[in-house]
Amino acid sequence: MQSSLVSRILEDRSRSSKPTGEWRKLMPKDSALVFNIQHYSLHDGPGIRTIVFLKGCPLRCPWCSNPESQRFGPEVSYVADKCIAGMGCDRCALACPGAVRTAPGTDTITLDHERLDRLDLNEITAFAKTCPSKALTLEGRPMRVDEILDVVERDEVFFDRSGGGLTVSGGEPLSHRTFLTSLLAGAHDRGISTAIETCGYAPYASLASAAEHLDYVLFDIKSMNDAKHREWTGFGNTRILDNFRRLCADHPEIPKLVRTPIIPGFNDSREDVAAILDFLHGLGGADANITYQPLRYHRFGEGKYHALGRNYPMGSVKLDDDLFNAIRDDALASGLAAEALYHD
Ligand code: SF4
Ligand code: SF4
Repeated sequence: MQSSLVSRILEDRSRSSKPTGEWRKLMPKDSALVFNIQHYSLHDGPGIRTIVFLKGCPLRCPWCSNPESQRFGPEVSYVADKCIAGMGCDRCALACPGAVRTAPGTDTITLDHERLDRLDLNEITAFAKTCPSKALTLEGRPMRVDEILDVVERDEVFFDRSGGGLTVSGGEPLSHRTFLTSLLAGAHDRGISTAIETCGYAPYASLASAAEHLDYVLFDIKSMNDAKHREWTGFGNTRILDNFRRLCADHPEIPKLVRTPIIPGFNDSREDVAAILDFLHGLGGADANITYQPLRYHRFGEGKYHALGRNYPMGSVKLDDDLFNAIRDDALASGLAAEALYHD
């Protein structure tokens, strides 16, 4: 790995791993932090899905398209284009003077994220709410299972027509074992089909208890190379691969879509993907209800890093289109290709 990339990754990992304030003390009972609920999604499980994003992930992938998902506490993001400081607004500065810097002659503000990190849940929520123009967004608000399901259930007509349902994503949903299990069980009680999107890094007990209430699993396998996995994401792949093996053994009935984001410099070779396909074939492949999809690297998360006061660790790297197409063809030839690949 280039030394400049290594230092960017380490800098971002250090910034994004600092604990936020004493937010857990003020969390309502039986709630988790949700940073988004996305409706009408077509790419995160069968049919039309409603995706619930839970905050917090143990990994730190530098290409993460949802950097606001990574830390376990609440945060505030700031989009300068929406800020009306130039028209005289100073509400956020009045609400928390120590966390906002203004410079004469500029139309924007700068947030002191280290200061914001020390606010408790109520304080940071109130701070974000002061903004009249949505330049400030609170990333992570506590929701209970029934509150989430009430929102999800409004999309039931789409689920019924399309074979869709609820997908719980993150962050890493398995980091919220008890809450996740209740959410999935509650969805089933309401007749809603369920899926999770997971990086697989969690105690197997968390996956096992979720699996009792799952109809579909989207499971990321990023690399078969343990050292590379550790270097790029902060953790090796042993636990992830073991979890997937055990899931296949314990729940052959659950369809599993394995996905690999193809990242320049990390796993962008046909050999990397061939190793993953070999692993999946070794577990039974299509007979074990496994399908596979390589995902094209994109930079959709870049603006979100800036909104959180972070630099985008991947810099300006680009994925070679021809190489991705060859990887995609290998996936098609493997007999494990996900349906979506045939229409890509
Ligand atoms: S596992 Fe997913 S959510 Fe977690 S850091 Fe990586 S890309 Fe982001
Ligand atoms: S409250 Fe919002 S619009 Fe006003 S200065 Fe702060 S960020 Fe900008």
